[in-house]
Amino acid sequence: MSTADTGTGPGTVTATPVVSSREEVARKPASVANLAIGFILLVCGLFIVVDLIQLGLARKQQIDDTNVAVTNIAHALQRHADDALKSADVSLIGMIKLVETEGTGPRGQGHLAALMGQNANALPQINAYFAYDERGRSLVDSTPFYVQQDVSDRDYFLFHRDNPGRDAHVGPLIKSRTTGSWIITVSRRVNHPDGSFAGVIVAALDLEYFKTFYDSFDIGKEGLIFLGTNKGTVLVRRPLYEQYVGKTMIDTQIFRDHIAKNASGLVTFRSTVDNKIRLTAYDHLQHYPLYVFVALSKQEALSGWVEDTIMHACGIGVLVLTLALLGWRLVRQIRLRARTEVSLREARDSLNELNATLQRLALEDGLTGLANRRHFDLALQEELSRATRNASSLALIMIDVDRFKQYNDIYGHAAGDECLRQIGRAVKNVSRRSGDLAARYGGEELAVLLPNTDLAAALEIAESLRHTIDALKIAHAGNPVGNVTVSAGIDALMPARADDLPETLIRQADQALYQAKRQGRNQVCAATDVL
Ligand code: GH3
Ligand code: MG
Ligand code: MG
Repeated sequence: MSTADTGTGPGTVTATPVVSSREEVARKPASVANLAIGFILLVCGLFIVVDLIQLGLARKQQIDDTNVAVTNIAHALQRHADDALKSADVSLIGMIKLVETEGTGPRGQGHLAALMGQNANALPQINAYFAYDERGRSLVDSTPFYVQQDVSDRDYFLFHRDNPGRDAHVGPLIKSRTTGSWIITVSRRVNHPDGSFAGVIVAALDLEYFKTFYDSFDIGKEGLIFLGTNKGTVLVRRPLYEQYVGKTMIDTQIFRDHIAKNASGLVTFRSTVDNKIRLTAYDHLQHYPLYVFVALSKQEALSGWVEDTIMHACGIGVLVLTLALLGWRLVRQIRLRARTEVSLREARDSLNELNATLQRLALEDGLTGLANRRHFDLALQEELSRATRNASSLALIMIDVDRFKQYNDIYGHAAGDECLRQIGRAVKNVSRRSGDLAARYGGEELAVLLPNTDLAAALEIAESLRHTIDALKIAHAGNPVGNVTVSAGIDALMPARADDLPETLIRQADQALYQAKRQGRNQVCAATDVL
């Protein structure tokens, strides 16, 4: 094969592997862009996740804080109610003792009235004290105006009359028949010396006292405070609706499952009345069968957190949008750059292809596809230098078609061209050693350059060539043989020396060719045969 084909000879063109480089270029920037998109998504996702975790923790903290607050309020209310009742009750014990010692005569009543007055002044929760005889009629009270009352139908009177126990009794919220105020009663039984029922002494605690205290707590618009008896009856309620007062909570789930079972507790429940969720704490009084119950709306407790969340969401939204925008621009830039790079590479590859074609055209003969004269001249120069350097031999075969003028005349110029193409192919096939170069020297004259080949080997190759072309049997009426034949002249430099010139080799091979023509054509002559 010739050097033009193998790409190893002089003036060889190396074409770039265009397709694979294009694919590579297209793939790389795409992965960079995907990487950038992935990174931006990751950053945005991380921002959102971290913020969601923070908001979740803040929400939990807010609920925990509210639970602590509601527990503290319940405890404070429990202490307050316990103290209020206790001090009222203690004052009753003194009065019972006085009545049972001094009796209910004018003197005893006088002392009792004085004691009632003192205590009513000293204790802010006391609305008034009342003493009744065994039939429920008024004996003494601490009010400035004496009104005769019959309380034989009142809950506390009936309780003490029917129960010999000496413990205090806490009654439901009632409207005082004497003062007209809403009151809670703490009462104790008075006995005759023989232990029989002698009447009751009642401390009336002002609802307003509890209400004022309960109003001092910030429980929001939906918060609730209850003071109730262990039997479930509501005594005080904030907000105060009279329709709730005296009602029982005994049927509510929170009372049944929690308040009735535990001394104190914390529970979250959904109201069946307004469907609101409330964080609730309850606490039973230490000395009286009462409990307090405080409930704060979860929605209100979280309102600050909701505001924070909205602010956060806006902040994160702006941040993520900005990041996304910047990321989008970055990815666009990467893609643009990648496209530009691909275009540039494509342009470069096309140029390379074009260049390769031009080079090939510049070194190849258009008709036969063999190396052209220019290529041959360069190769000869190159191979001669190499042979000189390596002290190796270099052979040249010059081939000329016999009676080709006549061929043209007989068969036409186009047929002559076709004949030359066929001969070109045959020459190429025979001189297929790497480094061999078959060229069209000019007209119907061909040359084969054979590096590392001595005269004998060249002679053999030339004979083989001549024979191959003869065997093609291209009809030629002008040739005595009947078909197209060639004559060849060869020469070889063995070894090539520094003073050898390309022209020398050509001239000698040419002379040998001339000799072959002279001797009758269709034969090979070596330069040594030249006379
Ligand atoms: P000889 O045996 O002595 O070589 O006789 P010849 O007729 O071949 O003589 P010569 O070599 O002088 O003739 C060369 C002819 O080759 C002249 C020209 O018509 C023909 N020729 C040269 N180049 C081409 C070509 O490219 N195509 C065709 N068809 N003919 C060509
Ligand atoms: Mg010729
Ligand atoms: Mg000729």
